[in-house]
Amino acid sequence: MDYTPPRPPAGAPPARINLYSDTQTKPTAAMKDAMMRAEVGDEQHGDDPTVWELCDRMAALLGKEAAIFMPSGTMCNVVAILTHCRPGDEVLAHKHSHIITSEGGGHCAMAGAMLTGMEGDKGMFTPETLRAHIRPRTRYTPPQRLLEVEQTANFGGGAVWPLEQLNAVAAIAHAEGWSTHMDGARLMNACVAAGVPAAEMVASMDSVWLDFTKGLGAPLGAVLAGSKEFIGQAWRWKQRLGGSMRQGGIVAAGCLHALDHNIDRLADDHANAKALARGLRQVQGVSVEEPETNLVFFDIGATGMTVARLQHKLAAQGIWVSGVGSRVRACTHLDVTAPMIDDAVAAIREALAAA
Ligand SMILES: *Cc1c(COP(=O)(O)O)cnc(C)c1O
Repeated sequence: MDYTPPRPPAGAPPARINLYSDTQTKPTAAMKDAMMRAEVGDEQHGDDPTVWELCDRMAALLGKEAAIFMPSGTMCNVVAILTHCRPGDEVLAHKHSHIITSEGGGHCAMAGAMLTGMEGDKGMFTPETLRAHIRPRTRYTPPQRLLEVEQTANFGGGAVWPLEQLNAVAAIAHAEGWSTHMDGARLMNACVAAGVPAAEMVASMDSVWLDFTKGLGAPLGAVLAGSKEFIGQAWRWKQRLGGSMRQGGIVAAGCLHALDHNIDRLADDHANAKALARGLRQVQGVSVEEPETNLVFFDIGATGMTVARLQHKLAAQGIWVSGVGSRVRACTHLDVTAPMIDDAVAAIREALAAA
């Protein structure tokens, strides 16, 4: 098996309307300018002032004692699980969570953690479901150690955990003596959509991270936050995994720029997602899930066309969407404008009419 990602086919038109993912944004001239001007040092040595500034701002934003800069969200998850768990410990998460479905089995491979997936609508589970997964503590049972939640729930359709439900499941975890971890890849989308400040949203979480490459428009970077002691331990895992950087301030400056300019505007992405859902509902045979944030999932099973075929037809016009099973995922972000939404709906209608 060759796991190398494919290169774009020669002569393929560039994406004109890129709804594939909010990870595909290109840094703006203003962001690149901020990166060019960054004051830098040796991050691995603790000398990069821009990385420290980002970590301090993120700790304050998330209401935690400390924070650590990472190259990616996946690394935040693996470092967090390595820090919280010992080999054999059980992590409870939703069965469609990114840590279970999309991180290469890294938590089992590297942390030796056992990941248990729970059922629930829209990538979330109820306090009752969580309670039903509490095991008796015996020498037979795996030690339950960590509760993991995703805010927003990606494969749950970008759904936002209501604050009370989040606090309720965290309270159960803490009563059992477990820790809580949030995969906050799109945390700011949740905060903007719910109108809840980030620190309040994550107050029940022992660790939480935010991705700067999901809708915030930065080319690289994620920040993991938690207690001073937790982050102190996380630093050794970051070092062991090769995640320590040198003049990381170049990248951190892009993240700082994103914090200053690209959070409030997430509301525009959510409005564009709603407009896309409204438009797609008018298309024969398409079943659209109502978006809460910037991810629009729609099922085209009833049209007789496969997701791959639709993707191919749209790509020929420079329109990119992604697919999960029989569902198409279209994602709005800062490189997608309102007129592009109308164009995309028209192109999808036309492509499906041919089915
Ligand atoms: C994208 C994503 C990740 C991984 O983040 P990367 O920065 O791509 O490594 C983790 N969790 C969720 C929910 C995501 O959407």
